[in-house]
Amino acid sequence: MATVVTTDPMLTLPYLVQDVAKETPDTFTLRLAPEEGANGGSFRPGQFSMLWVFGVGELPISISGDPGQHGQLVYTVRSVGQATNALVSQSVGAGVGVRGPFGNGWPVEAARGRDVIVVAGGIGLAPLRPVIYEVLHHRQDYGRLVVLYGARSPRDLLYRKELAAWARHRETQVLVTVDYGGMSWRGHVGVVTTLFKYARLKPSHSVAMVCGPEIMMRFVTRELESHGLSRNDIYLSMERNMKCAVGFCGHCQYGPHFICKDGPVFPYEQMRPLLEKYEL
Ligand SMILES: Cc1cc2nc3c(=O)[nH]c(=O)nc-3n(C[C@H](O)[C@H](O)[C@H](O)COP(=O)(O)OP(=O)(O)OC[C@H]3O[C@@H](n4cnc5c(N)ncnc54)[C@H](O)[C@@H]3O)c2cc1C
Repeated sequence: MATVVTTDPMLTLPYLVQDVAKETPDTFTLRLAPEEGANGGSFRPGQFSMLWVFGVGELPISISGDPGQHGQLVYTVRSVGQATNALVSQSVGAGVGVRGPFGNGWPVEAARGRDVIVVAGGIGLAPLRPVIYEVLHHRQDYGRLVVLYGARSPRDLLYRKELAAWARHRETQVLVTVDYGGMSWRGHVGVVTTLFKYARLKPSHSVAMVCGPEIMMRFVTRELESHGLSRNDIYLSMERNMKCAVGFCGHCQYGPHFICKDGPVFPYEQMRPLLEKYEL
């Protein structure tokens, strides 16, 4: 059968669930492959898809897989409501509709030759994982990779085996913290900003990519600025409810920006005046 290649952003393509892996009690990683005839699709780190759960609805989810691996799309989904719950409850072989990929993605090209600082909170590591793959696959093109990751508790940490594996790469530092450790946790306890004192940073030579709850991004950006990073070298991925994903419906408007088509990744310089207004 001939491959269907479409540039129509409103056309949903049929995919099948290949695998559903439990990451934490409420978060699962799904691997989808195109049904025969659909376009496998490539993506840039930081882009997202609109996933159609039949009979339930459509929702935006970041692509969390390896951009170098074609023919499948990987998503890490935290079950917070009806659509995400239905998505993580899909069985292997079930059909899911996929639109996209959408959005601009992280500045991985512009970061070449520089150190990359990844700062993630909770599920925020999902849209940043493709950046980590990209840097590790093209190690010679980048300087140091520093990953700072915080979760609520040890059982909320995503990709635990990979975190340990990434830390073994050369020129790579992975620091992990949790808000509440419990009896068996031997690692760091504290919010993600408390990791900065252990990070080996060269601020003038670095690009930072940050994703997590907005309160976390406010504190992390302050910390990065205090270490000397320029606001134009700090990038944030923003989330708002969205429907069309192509800038028509206006659901995701954030100040003058549409998160779906102008973002979801923005330089902190652009987001700063908006982030200062709570509840926007
Ligand atoms: C660009 C983008 C990328 C995303 N990537 C991921 C991802 O990789 N993994 C993941 O688990 N989730 C991701 N999300 C969030 C995900 O789309 C929402 O959690 C989902 O739409 C909630 O739908 P629901 O029906 O399950 O919950 P609902 O019943 O709609 O909502 C449950 C709770 O989540 C809040 N909520 C709903 N949608 C959003 C939203 N878009 N932003 C913030 N809060 C919301 C609601 O206010 C409510 O408190 C992303 C969102 C965007 C915009």
